[in-house]
Amino acid sequence: MYKDLSVYIHIPFCVKKCNYCDFVSAPPKPGQLKAYADALCEEIKLSAAYADNFNIKTVFIGGGTPSLYDSSVMVYILDTLKSTFENRRRGSYIPEELTVECNPGTLDKIKLSDYKRAGINRLSIGLQSADDKELKLLGRIHTYEDWEKSMKLARMCGFDNINTDIISGLFGQTVGSFEDTLKKALIYSPEHISVYSLIVEEGTPFYEKYNPESLSGEELDKWEEEDRLIYEMTNKVLSEYGYERYEISNYAKKGCESRHNMVYWRRGDYLGFGMSAASFIDGVRFANTDSFGEYTAAPYGSVKEKETLTLDEEMSESAFLALRTSYGISCGKFYDDFGKDIHDIYKDAIEKWTGNGMLIEKDGRIFCSEKGFNICNMIMADFIL
Ligand code: SF4
Repeated sequence: MYKDLSVYIHIPFCVKKCNYCDFVSAPPKPGQLKAYADALCEEIKLSAAYADNFNIKTVFIGGGTPSLYDSSVMVYILDTLKSTFENRRRGSYIPEELTVECNPGTLDKIKLSDYKRAGINRLSIGLQSADDKELKLLGRIHTYEDWEKSMKLARMCGFDNINTDIISGLFGQTVGSFEDTLKKALIYSPEHISVYSLIVEEGTPFYEKYNPESLSGEELDKWEEEDRLIYEMTNKVLSEYGYERYEISNYAKKGCESRHNMVYWRRGDYLGFGMSAASFIDGVRFANTDSFGEYTAAPYGSVKEKETLTLDEEMSESAFLALRTSYGISCGKFYDDFGKDIHDIYKDAIEKWTGNGMLIEKDGRIFCSEKGFNICNMIMADFIL
C-alpha cells in the first residue's frame, strides 16, 4: 500500500531580486542554471528509495522563477522525477496536480505548449498588483499588460487551472486601489486567487524604506485598519464572483482548490528537492541547505536541519494548520492521529471561541466562523500547547 506524497521542487533563480523578497532566490550567475538543474536531477535520482513506499499525487515547482528556465530543462527535471518514481513501482506515474510558478515576462507560446505536453496542468502566474506604480515599488519586472499577455497566452495554450497571487498591505494602498487590482485580475477569471499581506522582512530594501518600527503608532494603526478593510472587501467581491475562501489567504472556484497546499495544511507527507526545500516525511521535518555551493557539491545529503516534533508540537501544529482552512479541524482525524479527544486537550480554547461565535463546532468539525476567519491568528494562538 503506497502512501500519498507531494513533491516540491525549488528553483532559486529570478531575473531580478524584488524589493520585498527574502526568499532563497537571486539572478543566476554564469554556469549556475545548468549546474543547478544537474544537481536537482541528481538529488531526485538518489531519492529513489522513497518510491518504494510513496506515490506522487501533486508536484509544485516554485521559486524563484521556474519559468526562467528553458522548457527543455523543465522537461528534463520532470522526466527525471517520472523515471525515478515510475521504475520502482507498478502502475503509472500521473500526478493529479502539477503546478509551475511563472512570472509574466518569462513566458512565451513555445514554453507554455511544452509545459502542457510535459503534463503540467496548473500554472501560478503572479500578478501582485494591477497598478504599474505599485509593481515598480515592489521591484517587479512586469507590468499589468505583461500579466494580461501571459494570461491570454496560457488560456490559448489550453491551461484551465490558473492561480494568481495578489499582494495586499502595501503602504499607501487603499481599499479602492486594491479593489481595482482585484477587478482587473477577475477579467481573466483565474480559477484560484491567493491574497497575501505584505510582510516587511528585515534585510530587504523594503525594510529600509517601510520599517514598521519607524512608523508612528497612528500610521501603523491606519495601515493595519486599511489592510483589514481590504480583506473584508476582498471576501465580499470574490464571493460575488463565485470564489470560496477555503483558507485564510486562498480563494478558489469550486473544485479548483490547490491540492498541493492542502497537503501542507493537513500535514501530509511531502518531499522537497532543491536548495532550502523543506520535507515532512512520517512526522520528521528536514530542509536542504540554502547555500548554492553546498547544494551543488552534494545535492543529496545537503540536509541542514532535521527535527522530530514532540507530541504537543504535533497536536498544536495539526490544530492551527487546520484552523487556517474553512474545513477546520476534524475531531475524528485528531483522535485517529493522536489517540486523544480534542475536547480534552483544548477544552478552554474551544469553549472560549465557540462561546463568542468565532469558532463553530458542527458535524465532527471545529472551524472558524466568517468573523472568526478575520481574527484567525488570535484563535490559532490559543491552540499552541
Ligand atoms: S519573483 Fe518572487 S522569488 Fe523572485 S525575487 Fe521576486 S518575489 Fe522573490
